[in-house]
Amino acid sequence: MGWFSPDIQTVEELFLHNLQDIYYAERQIEKALPDMAAKASDAELKNGFNTHLKQTKGQIKRLDRAFKMIKSIPQGTKCPAIDGMIEEANEIAGEVADKMVLNAALIAAAQAVEHYEIARYGTLVSWAKLLGRPNVAKLLAMNLKEEKAADKKLNAIAKRKINRKAAARKRPRPDELERAENAFLTATAGLPAI
Ligand code: ZN
Ligand code: FE
Ligand code: FE
Ligand code: FE
Repeated sequence: MGWFSPDIQTVEELFLHNLQDIYYAERQIEKALPDMAAKASDAELKNGFNTHLKQTKGQIKRLDRAFKMIKSIPQGTKCPAIDGMIEEANEIAGEVADKMVLNAALIAAAQAVEHYEIARYGTLVSWAKLLGRPNVAKLLAMNLKEEKAADKKLNAIAKRKINRKAAARKRPRPDELERAENAFLTATAGLPAI
């Protein structure tokens, strides 16, 4: 749907559109999180991603209920923002060689996603209230609260250890690589090949 297409004329329709947008986004996030967990080499970060995966499944169920409350069928509409963020995360992850630096990259990507969700849910909660749907607003506020907590948790892990560990990693200098190679050859000289 484009900006000037006439299919959204009221805030109620805009609300439904954005509800479908976040529904699509949550389902993409549900698919992406196991991959993020697999790539994380820090146990706490891995657990964090797995916990948020469980929360995400619960959030999708709340959205299902929200759709029913407004007498709509739960249905997504393509969210180019989340597709772009996930694509960007995969691209970056593929380019990072060091495990510690990769952990930092994964947190950065995940926080971008959380911030998007926080923005969307924040708006949806106010619109639901505005439209006289306090029960829908309450459900959406639960999702919003979880996204904020997830963002805080990621921030804390990054600040407490991941960023520092990542920053300590240096690109090995060519002469260092050569020295390490020579040391290895000397150490293994005369050893049987098997
Ligand atoms: Zn649209
Ligand atoms: Fe979510
Ligand atoms: Fe979107
Ligand atoms: Fe989230």
